[in-house]
Amino acid sequence: MNILIVGAGPAGLTAGLELARRGVKATVIDKRAGGSTLSRAVGIVPMSLMLLEPSGVTPRLLDEGIQMQAVKFYLGERPLATIPLGVPNPRYGYGHILMLPQDQTEAALSDAFTGLGGTIRYDTEFKSLAQDSEAVAVTLSDGNTETYDYVIGADGIQSSVRAALDLDYPGHDLGETWSIADVNCNGWANPEDFTLCNLPAGGIAVVAPIGVNRCRVISNTPDALKSLAVPMDVSHVNREGQFTISVRQVADYRTGRVFLAGDAAHCHSPVGGRGMNLGIADACELAACLESGDLDRYARVRHAAGAATINNSERVRKMATATNPVRRMMFRTVLKTVGKSRFMRDKMAEGFLYG
Ligand SMILES: Cc1cc2nc3c(=O)[nH]c(=O)nc-3n(C[C@H](O)[C@H](O)[C@H](O)COP(=O)(O)OP(=O)(O)OC[C@H]3O[C@@H](n4cnc5c(N)ncnc54)[C@H](O)[C@@H]3O)c2cc1C
Repeated sequence: MNILIVGAGPAGLTAGLELARRGVKATVIDKRAGGSTLSRAVGIVPMSLMLLEPSGVTPRLLDEGIQMQAVKFYLGERPLATIPLGVPNPRYGYGHILMLPQDQTEAALSDAFTGLGGTIRYDTEFKSLAQDSEAVAVTLSDGNTETYDYVIGADGIQSSVRAALDLDYPGHDLGETWSIADVNCNGWANPEDFTLCNLPAGGIAVVAPIGVNRCRVISNTPDALKSLAVPMDVSHVNREGQFTISVRQVADYRTGRVFLAGDAAHCHSPVGGRGMNLGIADACELAACLESGDLDRYARVRHAAGAATINNSERVRKMATATNPVRRMMFRTVLKTVGKSRFMRDKMAEGFLYG
């Protein structure tokens, strides 16, 4: 089998790695000039750590990342509730979410893939494809046409592979502008915890530590640092920006010999930190299905998983970012109640870790 993977993000690199460790030849292409430097996804859930164990990537991630100890909720700068993590689940073997910038996760995946003999060709853009029952012919930016047994479109939210298949990406775009800042800071109050700050006028600002004295701040307002009510002593802003969010999912992850994985197949808000993890799980399932030959299983299983994750993420986003005073009051009351009960805290922690 000879497989082309379009996109060297977490989904594409995991697909390449999982195929390579099964002895299947896979080539990854990316239109970028080299590895990414963006720290987008910072939360690696226990399921991803378990899935990346057989390829030997997990120990490096554990070595480089910070184990999240708790999720701390604030109303403005006033603490509301603390949900300790570390609730063990024998199915996954890990009881924490790991905080690591996405570029470091991608570097670990990329090194493991090339270490197994896999090839990554940067500066190479997918342009179009034509398929029949035997193979897929792919045209690249250098004008050459190459033939593969299968193609995996892991080329992100604006997927050209999805466009070449003429597939709809049904869903909707959220109207609001979100913001992100990657900062160096001194003496942050919660260096091993995820902080969710419910803003007095509605909305949220969240903080995830991503290194020693380095944090990521995200808000559903146009200025994450300005809106963060819990005081933070920022010594340097490494990167700042704004982004918008779409909530979408393709109806079918498979079209003949071409598969979609990761953001090319589904996207939603960063609330819950599931996007990258969903793509990693897609890629692992797809590699197993390509090896076993049960190709329809991939679309069936991963579409259902994607739909469930999108529903969960949207439910939590709507609750956490509500501006309606009654809904905000309900959210805070639930948090205060949960914070007082060990049983409820553990249930909520299980949702963060394994939901
Ligand atoms: C601010 C922010 C915070 C986030 N936080 C989290 C989090 O905490 N946890 C989490 O799980 N997720 C998070 N996410 C989501 C996560 O970043 C994405 O879900 C993830 O990057 C998707 O991975 P992917 O491999 O599917 O696509 P991408 O990472 O987008 O990679 C696609 C690759 O395809 C390449 N490409 C595109 N078109 C072509 C072409 N025509 N030819 C060749 N190459 C092409 C691109 O250059 C790119 O390298 C966050 C996202 C954002 C924006």
